[in-house]
Amino acid sequence: MTTIDRSRIAVLMDRERQRFSQTHPRSAELSAEAKRSLLYGVPMNWMTRWPGSHPVWVTEAHGAHFTDVDGIDYVDLCLGDTGAMAGHAPKVAVDAIAEQAAKGLTFMLPTEDSIWVGDEMARRFGLPYWQFCLTATDANRFVLRLARQITGRSKVVVHDWNYHGSVDETFATLEDGQVVSKYGNIGPAVDPALTTRVVQLNDLGGLESALADGDVACCLFEPALTNIGIVLPDEGYHAAVRDLCTRYGTLLVIDETHTICAGPGGYTARHGLRPDLLTIGKTLGAGVPSAAYGMSQEISDRVVAGTFWHEADIGGVGGTLAGNALSLAAMRATLGEVLTDEAFARMEELAIRFTDGVRDVIETRGLPWHIVRLGCRAEYLFRPDPARDGVEAAAGQDEELDAYIHLFTLNRAVLLTPFHNMALMSPATTVEDVDRHTAVFAEAADELVAS
Ligand code: PMP
Repeated sequence: MTTIDRSRIAVLMDRERQRFSQTHPRSAELSAEAKRSLLYGVPMNWMTRWPGSHPVWVTEAHGAHFTDVDGIDYVDLCLGDTGAMAGHAPKVAVDAIAEQAAKGLTFMLPTEDSIWVGDEMARRFGLPYWQFCLTATDANRFVLRLARQITGRSKVVVHDWNYHGSVDETFATLEDGQVVSKYGNIGPAVDPALTTRVVQLNDLGGLESALADGDVACCLFEPALTNIGIVLPDEGYHAAVRDLCTRYGTLLVIDETHTICAGPGGYTARHGLRPDLLTIGKTLGAGVPSAAYGMSQEISDRVVAGTFWHEADIGGVGGTLAGNALSLAAMRATLGEVLTDEAFARMEELAIRFTDGVRDVIETRGLPWHIVRLGCRAEYLFRPDPARDGVEAAAGQDEELDAYIHLFTLNRAVLLTPFHNMALMSPATTVEDVDRHTAVFAEAADELVAS
C-alpha cells in the first residue's frame, strides 16, 4: 500500500491556501467586515470550521449548485449537512412556501397541510402518530422527556460518538469505561454520568449490561453512526437491540435525521426496524425549519394518558413556532413532490456511481483508505477498512488529510461536508456533478502520491 508523505501534505496545503486566497477576494472582504458585528465573524460559530482562512460567502443556490460572492459555481455535495438534501430552492417547495407566506405563517392553530404530512410520515415510517417541531434537536429533547415521563425511569442510553443535536443527555462518552462529558461540551447542566449510559455500536453485551438495572427510559440511537464517518451496524444488530429493549422495558428511539438517506422511510423502513419512537429533522421542509417525532399506538396511549393538559404549553415539550403553517406547507411540498420514492431511487444510483468512482481511485493508487455508502450518502475515510464502532472510527480520523481534501476540492469548486468527507445526493444532483468530484478526487490523490 502507498504510504503518504506527511511533509508533502504540508507543502500542498500551503499551495492550496494561497490558491484559495487568490480566488476568493470578495469572501475575504466580507469575512473581515463581518467581524464588526458578528461574534467570530459569522452568524454561527461552526461556520468558521472550513479549511480555508475564511468561509466562502454564498450569493444563491439552485439544485445541487451554489454560487459564491466571487462568482464561482460549486457542485454542492454538502447540501447544508442534509438541511438542503431536497436540493436548493426546489421550485415546488419554493412556490408552496411563497404561497403560504402570503397567507400567514404561524397561528397557534392547525392548518390542513398537517393532516397530509402526518399521514405521509405514518406511511413512510410505519408509526401512526406524529408531532411537529422546528429542529431535530428539539424532537430528540422532547422525546427524551416523554420517555422519562411515561416509563418513570431516569436514564438514557446512547452510542459512543453519537451526535443528536445539542441535547444535554447525549453529550457523553466513555473514558476507561466511565461516562464522562464529551470533549468540548459547553456548560453542561449536569454531569452526564447522572443521566446517561454509553455503549458502543454493535456491542450487544454492553447494551444488555446498560439496560439490566431496569432504570433506562430509552435508548436514543441512530441506526448507523453518521457523525464520526459512516459506521454501519452488524447484520442482526437492530433486531437484537429491539429484543433487549423489550425485555428490559426500555423504549427504543431511532433518530433518522441523517439516515433518511437510506430511503423514503429512512433506515427504519428499509430494514424493518420497529422503534417505539422516531425523530427526524433537517431535510423535511427543504430547509424551512421543520422536524417531527412519531410514536406507536401503545406509546401514544401512554403519552396522552400522562399529559397535563392545563400545562401542555409550558410542560417542556413544544414551542411557540412548533408545527407552524409555513413548516407544514414546506413539508407537504417537499415530501409530496421533491423527496419522493422515485427521487430516492435516482439519488441512490448516483451515490453508487460516486462510491464506485472513489473506490477506483483509492484502489488504483493503492491508498490505505476506503469508502462507505448508506443509500444516497457516501463518505470516504482515511483508514484501510470500515470501522465497527465510534471508537475505531474516531481513531481513524486524520485531520490533516481531511483539511487537504476539503480545500483541494473547494478550490476546484466541489463542496464536501465539513468535519467529514461526506457527500450527499439530492434529486437535482447529476451524473456530471458526481463525475466532477471523482476527477477532482483523483487529482488530489495523484498530487499526494506523486514522488
Ligand atoms: N440528529 C442527528 C443524527 C444529527 O446528525 C443532527 C445534526 N447533525 C441532529 C440530530 C440535530 O439536528 P439540528 O442541529 O438540526 O437540530
